[in-house]
Amino acid sequence: MFLFRWLWSNMSGYRGRYIIAMLLSVCCQSMYILTPLMSQRIVDTFITADNAVEMLRLRSDLLIWMVGAMIGFTFLRSIFQYCAAMLYETTSQAVVYRVRKKLYENINLQDATFYDHYRTGDIMTRMSGDIDWVRHSISWIIKNVLESLVLFAASVIYFFSMDALMAVCLLGLTPVIFFVSFFFKKKVRPMYVNLRERLSELNTAAEENISGNRVVKAFAREDYEIKRFDEKSLEYSGANKKAALTWLEFYPIIEITAQALTVVQLVVGGIFVINGRISIGEFTAFAGLIWTLANPMRNIGTIINDFQRFTASANKIIEIYYGKSKIADREDAVELEGRINGDISFKDVSFSYGSTNVLHDINLDIKAGETVALMGETGSGKTTLTELIARIYDVDKGQVTVDGKDVRMLKLKQLRGGIGVATQDVLLYSDTVDGNIAFGNTGMPEEEVVKCADYADADGFIRKLSEGYDTIVGERGVGLSGGQKQRIALARALAVKPSILILDDTTSAVDMETEKHIQKSLRNLDFPCTKIIIAQRISSTKDADKIVILKDGTISDIGTHEELIQREGYYKEVYQLQCQ
Ligand code: ADP
Repeated sequence: MFLFRWLWSNMSGYRGRYIIAMLLSVCCQSMYILTPLMSQRIVDTFITADNAVEMLRLRSDLLIWMVGAMIGFTFLRSIFQYCAAMLYETTSQAVVYRVRKKLYENINLQDATFYDHYRTGDIMTRMSGDIDWVRHSISWIIKNVLESLVLFAASVIYFFSMDALMAVCLLGLTPVIFFVSFFFKKKVRPMYVNLRERLSELNTAAEENISGNRVVKAFAREDYEIKRFDEKSLEYSGANKKAALTWLEFYPIIEITAQALTVVQLVVGGIFVINGRISIGEFTAFAGLIWTLANPMRNIGTIINDFQRFTASANKIIEIYYGKSKIADREDAVELEGRINGDISFKDVSFSYGSTNVLHDINLDIKAGETVALMGETGSGKTTLTELIARIYDVDKGQVTVDGKDVRMLKLKQLRGGIGVATQDVLLYSDTVDGNIAFGNTGMPEEEVVKCADYADADGFIRKLSEGYDTIVGERGVGLSGGQKQRIALARALAVKPSILILDDTTSAVDMETEKHIQKSLRNLDFPCTKIIIAQRISSTKDADKIVILKDGTISDIGTHEELIQREGYYKEVYQLQCQ
């Protein structure tokens, strides 16, 4: 019921059309009864009646009128069907558009935990295949259920109006349908839930292989990956077959019941004609209408199958549709006046990814305008520490403040808008170099773009590209070297003129000469900026105002380059390895 309420809520603006479409369906199905009604009258009046020949001569106008009405009804039914199909289709497309839009908005607003949890292939399945089942439910499943019910009900009413005993004899067989439906639905439901999971895994495998094609090639793993995909594909088609074939176990019962209807109609109807209880015309009408009972019965398998698929898909969609990001503006969030200054404080901060503790008891003060370097072994928590500033994750204990205010109290837009980040994994969009640099500040003038590129020592190589700043850098920046991508990412981070700049291993792939240029530019930016630099090279960190060493999620040492090389510890070891 919840699913239908959800569909209904997404139908606003189209509800009237949908109701008209359903009314047209009801009319169409009811009209199916009218044709046999006419033929019954024709048989009884003009063929089997004692005065049939006389009737033909005297009331040929009635015959013409009845035949005309039969043709007219069929024509009208076709028009109704066409209009209903149009209305079902426009409504379902409108709902799908609305759901897809809302889903995409919601996915964009989700926090990082969401992306840790859901795989891209799974999200894509929800956005494509699952949504199509929403369309199918509106334009086909509900329509089909309604039509089957109306046809069944209309024929039952008609049968009762002709002969109640005959109708009861035929309906005596119908409880079979309810039992079959109940057991079939129970059996097939988990199969479709499983099928939906298989589809998600299949799409995830495809997505990972396609986006990771370079790694696959580098390791000559094509055969393995093809085999892996093939296995997933086989699992999916196996699950599909299993679910689809389950109906075959129940179908014979339904088919026998449907055939039994004809037998009952022939035997009981035959006896009633001989007894004179019903006319030959009524007998013909019964025979002509037996399919109106049998067809809805035969449809039940398809309806239940489709409905289960829809349920499995809709539940997946709803999970995201109503999913709320835990990291969002609080109602009492405040906006700092003017530009963020850039003072940052970590006070007794602890953070875990699920049950894995990553940072504990972090206390660190960074003054506006300072440059702080973060160093430590891989996995010591450097990236996570910086992510707490922009609220990519929220602390579990303690607090992070920016300009003296707990970041959880600040408006996210202002907080994140004031932070420029160049992350470890550089992702460039399929856009021009210019578009990529201006990503966070789309209206920026051309000279500003060039200036940012110059800060990142990228202007030179960009101008050498085939179309300079207008060169499209392909998906994920294919066609550029790692160092070039890093420089564009740095220019992109600088383009927002951030109050806080976070560089996560941003110069790891550039040569020493370029790094020197970048460091010089960073010292001479034309806007005030607090810089947090995660780096492994001493050359990147030695000029920092403060170097913070992280070890297993805690700060093990803090000092300047001169101070740290004086004492035993991680920094001195790295210094000796790199510089002596
Ligand atoms: P560093 O930047 O120092 O290499 P990170 O902050 O990236 O360290 O990671 C610290 C620890 O947290 C590592 O053990 C890593 O495996 C774990 N980790 C990082 N990101 C996630 C995540 N999204 N989900 C679960 N664990 C994570």
